[in-house]
Amino acid sequence: MDLDISDQDRAFQAQVGGLIAESFPAGAPYDEATWHAALTRMGWAANKWPAAFGGPGWTPTESFIWERETTAAGLPPQVGGMGMGMLAPILFGYGTKAQQDRFLPDILANRVRWCQGYSEPGAGSDLASLSTRAVRQGEAYVVDGEKLWTSGAHEADWMFCLVRTAVEPKRQAGITFLLIDMRAAGVTVSPIVSIDGRHMFNRVVFDAVPVPVENRIGEEGQGWTYAKGLLTHERTGQAFVSLSLDLARRIRLAAAAIPGARGGRLIDDPGFAGRLGLAEIELRALEATEMRTLWEVQAGSAPGAQSSLLKLKGTEIVQRLTEFFVECAGPYAAPWFPAIAGPPPPPVGPEWAGPEVARYFEGRAASIAGGSDEIQRNIIAKQVLKI
Ligand SMILES: Cc1cc2nc3c(=O)[nH]c(=O)nc-3n(C[C@H](O)[C@H](O)[C@H](O)COP(=O)(O)OP(=O)(O)OC[C@H]3O[C@@H](n4cnc5c(N)ncnc54)[C@H](O)[C@@H]3O)c2cc1C
Repeated sequence: MDLDISDQDRAFQAQVGGLIAESFPAGAPYDEATWHAALTRMGWAANKWPAAFGGPGWTPTESFIWERETTAAGLPPQVGGMGMGMLAPILFGYGTKAQQDRFLPDILANRVRWCQGYSEPGAGSDLASLSTRAVRQGEAYVVDGEKLWTSGAHEADWMFCLVRTAVEPKRQAGITFLLIDMRAAGVTVSPIVSIDGRHMFNRVVFDAVPVPVENRIGEEGQGWTYAKGLLTHERTGQAFVSLSLDLARRIRLAAAAIPGARGGRLIDDPGFAGRLGLAEIELRALEATEMRTLWEVQAGSAPGAQSSLLKLKGTEIVQRLTEFFVECAGPYAAPWFPAIAGPPPPPVGPEWAGPEVARYFEGRAASIAGGSDEIQRNIIAKQVLKI
């Protein structure tokens, strides 16, 4: 099997490199507006969307090259957050033409921010037990309830949200998918500050919030089907292969500059090198699985349990790699452990120590976000092992 890329793909790779260099000449700091403008100019802003909706129609190999090159340059492969990556595929599949025309252009232009209103107190892994209620009154639903852990709700214009419109014997029935304007009367967003001092999470309370029926996706009571589709997209995008490849490359560079035992370099330490090599081999296997999944999806099949597998293994590998960075930083990592050292000190040690130790902490959350590791294992057991 020839795993090398074609001349055409190599030309595309050079074109991507050219765009990156032109947008951010050496040393220029990243800014979202510049990057989004460059992507828009190339017709690459919605690079995962189907061509029918304005995507570039890349092959999986081109998408693959794009992700690798942008991540290695420290740039996000796409701008537009949850609207671009999560809601848009739902609108393609289940939205009306009017909903597509209303919401997609703003997502494409990065004019609106979306947040995801799934989890509630008492409804995380067991999402079907959600109890936020929507009662239809004429041409609107009136929504009451509470959402929890809503990332970015404090900056969002809109929320795609699961609500209960009926109590059915099968809990998944009776769930409806609504689009809620975060500025509507009765929406209250309160911050939840995490242990590292960051404000990303929120609690969102709905108190008799009116939501026009035209903001319902698909049919009433069918929201579970749409939500499951969305989660599959979310998880397929959480294999973190590009990030892990970049981490592995940079760990090698860092470890080559750090003294190891007996006067050598850390990278030459057989224990360290062996463990890193093992992680890299698993990463290559994951890369092949991701590539295969992308081709299968392009050929029209739904990723199913494979998305859980990619998420589970991808999370495990990225977490292992962030541990190598902490090991490389050695004592210089300690000041960046907020629980031990309090607020961050003035920079100390190698310049990557602070960001990489922060990434080590952030990486832990990937085992929970988008469905915990245990839930992914349950899905794999059920769908693949049939137990
Ligand atoms: C970084 C991050 C961002 C998030 N962003 C959002 C967001 O934007 N919008 C949103 O709606 N939610 C968001 N969440 C919430 C996330 O979806 C939930 O935290 C997750 O689904 C788990 O639910 P829970 O926290 O209620 O934990 P629980 O469901 O209470 O689980 C607690 C523990 O029990 C285990 N467990 C539960 N059920 C089973 C089972 N059947 N078998 C085996 N083990 C089980 C879990 O694996 C976990 O270890 C985010 C979470 C994180 C960490």
